[in-house]
Amino acid sequence: QVKSRGKDNYCFFDSSMNVDTSQRLTLERDLRRAISHGELEVHYQPQVCLRTGEVGGLEALVRWRHPQRGLLQPAEFLPLASETNLIAELSHQVLTSACEEVGQWIAAGYSDLRLAVNLSPVQVEHPMFARRLMAQLRQAGFPPGNLEIEITENVIMNDLEKVSQTLRELAQQGIRIAVDDFGTGYSSLNYLHQLPIHILKVDRSFIQSIRAGNEGACIVDAVIAMAKGLKLEIVAEGVENQDQLDYLRARHCDHVQGFLFGRAQPGPVVQKLLDGQLLPAAVQA
Ligand code: C2E
Ligand code: MG
Ligand code: MG
Ligand code: MG
Repeated sequence: QVKSRGKDNYCFFDSSMNVDTSQRLTLERDLRRAISHGELEVHYQPQVCLRTGEVGGLEALVRWRHPQRGLLQPAEFLPLASETNLIAELSHQVLTSACEEVGQWIAAGYSDLRLAVNLSPVQVEHPMFARRLMAQLRQAGFPPGNLEIEITENVIMNDLEKVSQTLRELAQQGIRIAVDDFGTGYSSLNYLHQLPIHILKVDRSFIQSIRAGNEGACIVDAVIAMAKGLKLEIVAEGVENQDQLDYLRARHCDHVQGFLFGRAQPGPVVQKLLDGQLLPAAVQA
C-alpha cells in the first residue's frame, strides 16, 4: 500500500513497509536460488502401523538448507512460495526427490511402504495436475499404489468441482487420498462420501488434548467411529506421549505419527530406521 503525503503528493513507503518489502524480496530471491541450486531437502516422518508395530508409511516434509540461516522449516518459506509461482517448482522437486528415494526402498524390498506427499491448493486446482503427476510417477518408476496425497479440508472446499475431478483421476490410478488436519477446516462432512477419500488424519490439536473424559478425547472417539463406519483409515497426527498412544491403541486407531516415534529426518537416517526398525519400545505392543 503506497501512502501519499505532503503538498507535492509525493508517494513513498513508510520505513516499516520498507523493511518488510526488502526482507520479502531477499527471501524470494533466496528461494529462487534454493530451487535452482538444490538447497531444498526432503525429510521423512514415520507413520507407524499399530497392528504390526512397524513403519508403514513416510510423510515427505520439505526443508530448506539455507547457506547462512541453517535448516529452515516450511512455516518460514512455504507462505511466500505459495504467494509466488515458486510453489509449483518447489512441489515438483519434492515429489521428484521423494519418489526417487522412497522408490529405491520400495524396490529394495519394502514393497508395501507408503509415501505421503502434501499438496498445495494451486497444484490440486490445476486441470493438468493429475496427468502431470502420473507422467512424473511413470518417469520415476514409482508405483502409484504406494503413493498417498494429503490435502486439507480447506483445499477441498475451495473449489470442490476442480478438486473432485483431480481426485477422481488420481484415485482411478490407485493413488490414495488423505484429508490432512482433519477437524480444523471450514467444511461440511458431505464431501466424505462424494469424493474418493481413503484416509483421515486427525489433527494434532485433538490428539494433544486427549485426557480421559475431556472434549478432545470425545472428538477423537467420534472421528474414529465415523471413519470406521465410512471404511476410512485413520492416522493420528502429533502423538507425543505414551498416554496418547495407549488411548489411541485402545480405540483401534490404524496409524500413528508424531515425535514419540520420530521427527522428520533426512533419507539416510530414515533408511537406517527402516533397516533396523529402530522404534522406541513404546510402539511394540
Ligand atoms: P502437515 O502436513 O500437517 O505436517 C505435519 C507437521 O506437524 C510437520 O511440520 C511435522 O513436523 C509436525 N509434527 C509431526 N509430529 C509432531 C508432534 O508430535 N508434535 C508437534 N508439535 N508437531 C509434529 P512441518 O514439517 O513444519 O510442516 C508444516 C506444514 O507445512 C505441513 O503440515 C504441511 O501442511 C506443509 N508442508 C510441509 N512440506 C510440504 C510440501 O512438500 N508441500 C506442501 N505443499 N506443503 C508442505
Ligand atoms: Mg501432511
Ligand atoms: Mg497435518
Ligand atoms: Mg498442518
